[in-house]
Formats: sequence, C-alpha cells, structure tokens
Amino acid sequence: MTGAVSVDVAVVGAGIVGSAIARDLAGTGLGIALVEARDDVGDGTSKANTAILHTGFDARPGTLESRLVARGYDLLGRYAEQTGIPVERTGALLVAWTDEELAALPGLRAKAEANGYDACALVSADEVYAAVPHLGPGVLGGLTVPGESIICTWTTTLALATDAVRRGAVLLLGHRVEAVQAVEGHTVLVTSRGEVRARWVVNAAGLGADHLDRMFGHDRFTVTPRRGELLVFDKLARPLVPRIVLPVPSSLGKGVLVSPTIYGNVMLGPTAEDLTDRTATGTSADGLAGLVAKGARIMPSLLDEEVTATYAGLRAAIDSDDYLIDVDADRRYLLVGGIRSTGLTAGMAIAEHVRGLLAETDLDLTARDDVPEPPRMPNLGEAAPRPYQQPDLIAADPAYGEVVCFCERVTAGEVRDACASTIPPADLDGLRRRTRVLNGRCQGFFCGARVRDLLSTGGRVR
Ligand SMILES: Cc1cc2nc3c(=O)[nH]c(=O)nc-3n(C[C@H](O)[C@H](O)[C@H](O)COP(=O)(O)OP(=O)(O)OC[C@H]3O[C@@H](n4cnc5c(N)ncnc54)[C@H](O)[C@@H]3O)c2cc1C
Repeated sequence: MTGAVSVDVAVVGAGIVGSAIARDLAGTGLGIALVEARDDVGDGTSKANTAILHTGFDARPGTLESRLVARGYDLLGRYAEQTGIPVERTGALLVAWTDEELAALPGLRAKAEANGYDACALVSADEVYAAVPHLGPGVLGGLTVPGESIICTWTTTLALATDAVRRGAVLLLGHRVEAVQAVEGHTVLVTSRGEVRARWVVNAAGLGADHLDRMFGHDRFTVTPRRGELLVFDKLARPLVPRIVLPVPSSLGKGVLVSPTIYGNVMLGPTAEDLTDRTATGTSADGLAGLVAKGARIMPSLLDEEVTATYAGLRAAIDSDDYLIDVDADRRYLLVGGIRSTGLTAGMAIAEHVRGLLAETDLDLTARDDVPEPPRMPNLGEAAPRPYQQPDLIAADPAYGEVVCFCERVTAGEVRDACASTIPPADLDGLRRRTRVLNGRCQGFFCGARVRDLLSTGGRVR
C-alpha cells in the first residue's frame, strides 16, 4: 500500500513486539497501522534468537521485565495452544561446572522465587547426568527450571501480525519511517513510501528505537547492538539434548546454552558481543570458534555431529537493566525500548501493558465484541504431525504428499498455502520462515531451484 494513510494509532516496527501491540490494539474500535521498514514481518531480531519461552526465573526481581516476562510466558503459552504455534515443554537444567557456580545455585533458586517462580529444585551431579547423560565430565550440580520451553519464533510473530491484520490493522511493509512531523492533533510519519497520519504513535522499532525516539525530540538512550551468534546442529544430534542446558548466568549475561529446537535440531549459543554496526547480523570466525570451545566442554559428543547452519541476531541493548516503556502524552507518543533478550516471551505482555498505559490517554480502548477468532497457523514443529505424515490430508489434497524440500520434508501444499496466506512471503527467506523450506542440511542445494520456481508462481505447480 502507498500514499497517505490515516489511523488512530501507528505502531512502528513489525517484530514480535510491534505485531503483538498492533494485534492487541486492533481488538478495540481504533484504526491501527503496523508500519515496517522491511518487506516482511518478523525480519529483524525476532527471526534470529534462541527461541526459548522463558519463565523469567533469572530476571532481576522487581523490574518491569521480570513482571512482563512472567506474564508473557502465560499469555504466549495460551495463545500458542489456540493458534498452533509450536511449543515443546522440555524444561531446562542449569548446570554448575565450578565451585563458584555451584555456590551460586541456591541464590538463583531464591531469585526465581522472588520472581514468583517456585518450581526450581537443586539437584546433584548424578541427577544432572541422569537427565542429560551426554554432558561432558566435571558437572558439580544443577538447578532444574521445569517451565522453560522451546517455541517457534517465526510462527509467533507471523501469528500475531496475521491476527492484527484479520482484526483490521493496516500492514504497511516497506515503509521506513524517515521523519516525523507534528501537526494539530496528529503526527505525520514520513516514510519511504508515503505519509502515515496518526493520532498516536507507538515506537516498537527495536534496534532503530533510539533513532525514532530522537525524531520525537528525545535524547535519552542509545541502542547498542549486542550480537549473539549460534551454531545449529543436524537432526541426528537431537537425542543428545533432551532439554535446555543452561549455564550459570554471569554479569556478562545469560551465557552459552545448548538447546533442542522445535524443528528437531540442536543449537549452541549465543555469544554476546557489543558492536556499533546495527546491520552486522553475519557470523564471525572468532565467535564460532568460541562457541566450539564452549561446546567441547559442555557436551563433547555434540561436536561430532554435523553443523547445518550458523546465524546471528542483534539484541537491542541499552544502558539500563530494564525495559524502557514510557508515554509522552504531549506528543501522543509511546516508546517501547530496550527489549533486549526476552522480547519473544514478553511481547504479548508488553502489548497488554501498552494498552494499559494508553487507556490513561484520550484514546477509547473499549474492546470490540466482534473480534475474529485467532488464526490457526501451519505446524512447523516436530512434536505434532506435519502434512507429509497425514494420509487423510494427502488423500484429500495430493499437494500435501508432494515433498519439495526433502531435508525438512516440506510439501508443495504448504508452499502454496504460505503464498496464499494473509501475509504472504516476500522472498525465499520469508518462505523459509513460514514452511522450513531450504532449512535442512542441504541448505537448498537440491530443492532451491524448484522452491524458487514455486514461489514465483505463487505456489502453483506448473
Ligand atoms: C541471540 C538472541 C537470542 C535471544 N533469545 C531469546 C529467547 O530465547 N527468548 C526470548 O524471549 N527472547 C530472546 N531474544 C530477544 C528477542 O529476540 C527480542 O527481544 C525480540 O525479538 C525483540 O523484538 P522487537 O519487535 O522489539 O524487535 P525486532 O524484531 O528487531 O523488530 C523491530 C522492527 O522495527 C523495524 N524498524 C526499525 N526502524 C524502523 C523505522 N524507522 N521504520 C519502520 N520500521 C522500523 C525493523 O525493521 C524491525 O522489523 C534473543 C535475542 C537475540 C539477539
């Protein structure tokens, strides 16, 4: 869509956070626009994280982040059941390798309790090895975190954005906000593809949130892109890692973990490295070498398995230990900044919090009584049947029996459905996030041409 658009609230940034906010506000009678610089939703940090649904056990007690992660855990868990976002309730085990780490475990359990999470238990080294037999030698003890779960980050953002659009929000992709003009009772967002007029603006621009904030006349924070690199191991590694294996967190962050993925792989990472380049989502030789060294300690046998992919994501770190969510009533502007390492989990709770803040303003946030049902998303997870495994489905529609990506077992029917969906993919990467196509060990070597062809015909078999 191009040209002037006029709405009650423009939400800038269609990552998990902006999509959740747009969906939530679109449940009222207000006109909502979701304004995104890129050609797809969920194409920023929200596509490249460790995809853990956090309980919030290790948050700093008393912070907004602690409260919203715990609330988001419940909200997203329930929403995932409604929409089919894949979740596996694997649980996590925090492992101590040194006396110092062992001594820190009771404090971490107390911290979890201060965060309202009282399911953690201290366990012996023998119990740790019984739960994860392939851990390397030298474990001294552990702490269980039974609620930690794995989730599909791609489906989460897509579900929320799809829901927002079906509730009536206008999705403006390819609209980078470049300037902001205040006019009587409105703000005009000058974008790369025309103007958007809005009574209120919500800034959920992630790594770009400080730049947008300055366009509104503020100078209160700077985003530091904190890169996290990860290694993804092939599916044969999955039995080695029955649950998430966490390190004891330090002042440098949550540390390097080993986790199963809902696609049946195993990931090792992330690193934590402060950069200045907000586009530096490539991996580095040093980062990957560091991960290999850590992995060799945590689980030596994992390194015998093949690596199918590497990737990196950028946390939007700010110089504060908490989220920065603030209303500027004079400018009719709300900032959602510093959503660093927990935004996937907290996104829906952030949206609820934002609605609460906006309810104190001149906006009428009365809930509509004609809100459509949430979308039912295609299943990308290994824990539930996928189309190629369902004879009835294939009998009714043979396209679900026609596998086009053999590594990930994606069918022509799924590619077709993605192309016909509410928010179709703009390119192969978008199709990858909607179907898992090209994600396997061949990385598209065998199926790339066929998949590209299918995408170019909107999923129709020629
Ligand atoms: C390595 C790593 C691991 C992580 N692991 C987890 C985890 O396990 N669990 C968890 O809960 N969280 C995790 N996170 C954090 C989580 O991924 C983020 O908090 C979350 O994705 C942030 O979402 P967002 O919507 O704020 O940002 P983004 O996804 O970056 O979305 C912001 C959007 O704003 C757009 N934008 C920016 N500027 C403009 C502009 N001027 N005009 C228009 N659009 C603009 C961008 O294009 C982008 O699409 C992790 C993060 C990283 C990097």
